[in-house]
Amino acid sequence: MQSAESPERYYTYEDVKRLATSFGEGLRRKWAWQLGDIMAIYAPNDIDFAPVVYGAFYAGGTISTANPAYNSDELTFQLQNSGAKALVTTIAFLPTAIVAAEASNIAKDHIIILGPERSNGFQHWRDVGIQSEHGRHGRQALQPQRDLAFLVYSSGTTGLPKGVMLSHYNVVSDLSLIQGAVGSSYKSGKDKMIGVLPFFHIYGLIGLVNQCLQRGIEMVVVRSYEFRSFLQLIQQHEVTFVYVAPPIIVRLAHDKLVDNYDLSTLRMITSGAAPLTMELIQKVYKRLGVGINQAYGLSETSPMTHTQPWDEWYDSIGSVGKLFPNMTARFMSADGEVQPGKVGELWLAGPNVFQGYWKNQKETQASIAEHAGKRYLKTGDVGFMDDNQNFFLTDRVKDLIKYKGFQVAPTELEGKLSDHPLVQDVAIIGVFDSNQHTEVPRAYIVHATRGGAGCHPVTGLPGDEQSKIEATEIMNWFSKKVANHKRLRGGIRFLDSIPKSAAGKILKNDVKRIARQEEESQ
Ligand code: AMP
Repeated sequence: MQSAESPERYYTYEDVKRLATSFGEGLRRKWAWQLGDIMAIYAPNDIDFAPVVYGAFYAGGTISTANPAYNSDELTFQLQNSGAKALVTTIAFLPTAIVAAEASNIAKDHIIILGPERSNGFQHWRDVGIQSEHGRHGRQALQPQRDLAFLVYSSGTTGLPKGVMLSHYNVVSDLSLIQGAVGSSYKSGKDKMIGVLPFFHIYGLIGLVNQCLQRGIEMVVVRSYEFRSFLQLIQQHEVTFVYVAPPIIVRLAHDKLVDNYDLSTLRMITSGAAPLTMELIQKVYKRLGVGINQAYGLSETSPMTHTQPWDEWYDSIGSVGKLFPNMTARFMSADGEVQPGKVGELWLAGPNVFQGYWKNQKETQASIAEHAGKRYLKTGDVGFMDDNQNFFLTDRVKDLIKYKGFQVAPTELEGKLSDHPLVQDVAIIGVFDSNQHTEVPRAYIVHATRGGAGCHPVTGLPGDEQSKIEATEIMNWFSKKVANHKRLRGGIRFLDSIPKSAAGKILKNDVKRIARQEEESQ
């Protein structure tokens, strides 16, 4: 592993093992780290992720990664909910980390720094380590099926973000399933990957950090993604294989910068985390002559469950791929299993299906269905399988927005927006922004005093000056309260009332219908 920004920083496999062991020993001996204690990481990508994660595992710890774009409230929520005992961060993120740690009863001496810089008053993770063999505790014994490797946060099919419990068994299973599906397509010692996807997200954490270590693949780790340097690094390091999310595919398809770089070493581009259109795939293929295959999965499945085989990707273009070996899929409707080839909600069973939501039995039960002795995860994604076992996704029934691959939980945004004095009631939906090729969150609001007055009676689009000013006011206020990816990029609309069921549940399909009417009227 090598740091893209400072090439003198690199780890060999031996380095990762030595440093992880020393860190794990330090946690056990100096900090009395216990099996199941949670270590949160709130940091951008860094080569230190690998020894810190494996050091925590050595001591029996569980890693909970948080988006470094979070503000202190968002981070506090995760720290409090998970009950993290320590927080790992970088110098740049310390101010927010300190506020959140204080609010979550994490002592100052349990905030530790990773990355190249150090800070007075805070321990660097390397300072926690003990290299001496004297009094060695050794690795904490684990029960892989029970003990958790990761606690990542996802809103699942509904509600607020929840801790997704992934055991060591789940994670190792997923790595083996990937190996079984496409492992022979890339080779240790020959292939080189680039670590641009965020390591805090399950896709980067397992697809990149864990997979490259398991597979023996060298990786160039990018601390902060920027498209030009992404291209430059592929050229400079002769990268052969990249895992990306759709926003990078959009740039590869359209951006003039691409013409300035030699990307001919690339053998395959794998895209996942959000939908990708066939047109974009075709454009990039035509432009670069490189295959683009898709992968699919969820935090709850550790994460990958499908990918297109490298030698078949073009024949099944638009598909998210074939189901991994040792997994079972069902397509369900309200009336039961649908006929083969018909559209239904995708349910998945396999050794990579999570243990449940952290301290949330109710949501765990709602997300799992037992059938013929197997535990199926109800994915909330809708699609079908064709005659050649290729899976296609057509819709989503869960209340989730994906902005450029990042999760946005409508319930969380609705809760925060309700605090604004002009907001009496609110519903958030995702609408597709065709310029950016991504879903963006849009708020439908009942104005506290005027309802939908001054706006288009059907679509809620602000018409008069007063509504426009107020929509901007709410939008600016909201932007200060949330991480960048949760901003209301889809705008604000005012309605007289939010469509609801008799039980008071927001009827999201009706709200989406209003959004479609607006689109059609343009
Ligand atoms: P996360 O838990 O953040 O990985 O989000 C999982 C969700 O992302 C899935 O349930 C899908 O809705 C979406 N997703 C992941 N991969 C794909 C893909 N290749 N195509 C379409 N949607 C995807």
